Amino acid sequence: MSENVVGTCSLPLAIATNFLIDGKDYLVPMAIEESSVVAGASHGAKLVREGGGFTTEATPPLMIGQIQVLDLADPYEAVERLLDAKGRLLEEANKVDPVIVALGGGAQDIEPRVIDSPRGPMLVLHLLYDVRDAMGANVINTTLEALAPLVEEITGGRVNLRIISNLADRRLARAQATVPQEALTFDGFEGKEVVERILEAHAFAQADPYRAATHNKGVMNGIDGVALATGNDWRAIEAGAHAYAARNGKYSPLTSWHRGEEGNLGGSIELPISVGIVGGATRANPTAKVALKILGVNSARELDRVMAAVGLAQNLAALRALATEGIQRGHMALHARNVALSVGMPEKYIDQVVDQMVEERKIRPDRAQEIARELGTSR
Ligand code: NAD
Repeated sequence: MSENVVGTCSLPLAIATNFLIDGKDYLVPMAIEESSVVAGASHGAKLVREGGGFTTEATPPLMIGQIQVLDLADPYEAVERLLDAKGRLLEEANKVDPVIVALGGGAQDIEPRVIDSPRGPMLVLHLLYDVRDAMGANVINTTLEALAPLVEEITGGRVNLRIISNLADRRLARAQATVPQEALTFDGFEGKEVVERILEAHAFAQADPYRAATHNKGVMNGIDGVALATGNDWRAIEAGAHAYAARNGKYSPLTSWHRGEEGNLGGSIELPISVGIVGGATRANPTAKVALKILGVNSARELDRVMAAVGLAQNLAALRALATEGIQRGHMALHARNVALSVGMPEKYIDQVVDQMVEERKIRPDRAQEIARELGTSR
């Protein structure tokens, strides 16, 4: 799967629970090393379950491939020539992967554009390709390379790059949820107040890219966890999500929250999610294969929908905690355990060291060692 391999690098594989998505229950495998993410997703999903679960949708899996065409005397005339040759171009593109075409996918359309660049105007041909149940990068890159000579012939130009775009804005997943106000009541906070505080947190992310980046990092904690567990390319999803978050010229939150009927909390998410249930490492990695089986999705579109719901649940859990007790309380016990393990003390001391660090609110390696020493000498 890679080059110069000397070993493998494991991560915890966990199952997030409580997900009710479009009337179907899901157990969601997540691979992630960060404490509290899986608990957060499960808690967010539990709150949403009380409002009837997630409602989701995903567009057909249309990915964009780009061909850069240079050395054109008149790029706008070349655009016309490409549009006139659309039928021939699609036919040529669809010779490359007969399996996908037989499944109802393949090249659907072309969109030639002229863009300004620091080196002057250039023509970029977009190929819109339905990748069915694949993530699609290999399929599209192969198709673009096969198509390049014909593009040169039609335009009279020179093709440089031929590569998929990770800004997959034709392949969007959406999820919506409602959380009853009273479900948000806890620990001295009235549900109404929690809704208000979550809306304040959302407004902060809308107004400030410094906050929006962290808001979206929380969303991606969940989405990346599922991507990793299912053998998908999380870098591709990350690149697409953040480019999409900045599509209007200002980096913005990927989720939106509002007060709905009867004061309930309403939330939604929309982002590109390019994942597959075939191809890449999804079948080559045995753990990913099992994760997909546990999840029980039957198509890449279904996986897109589940991942959108996970992103929304993750964001809800983070905002609820941040806007009330702060995230450290829930985080501390697990974090303390990681700290205790990292300093390598005898296993019999771990629980006591963790408890004491949490009680003292001093979660540091030096304190863990001190406590372990005290425990050792006191016996
Ligand atoms: P792939 O080429 O491994 O698999 C797709 C193949 O599966 C298709 O050629 C098709 O013939 C076959 N197939 C069988 N049943 C199918 C079905 N139901 N739906 C769709 N295809 C079906 O995988 P891929 O998805 O084209 O490429 C994904 C990989 O590309 C990822 O591992 C990613 O890391 C890598 N990649 C990403 C980028 C990028 O994102 N910029 C660039 C290059 C490579």
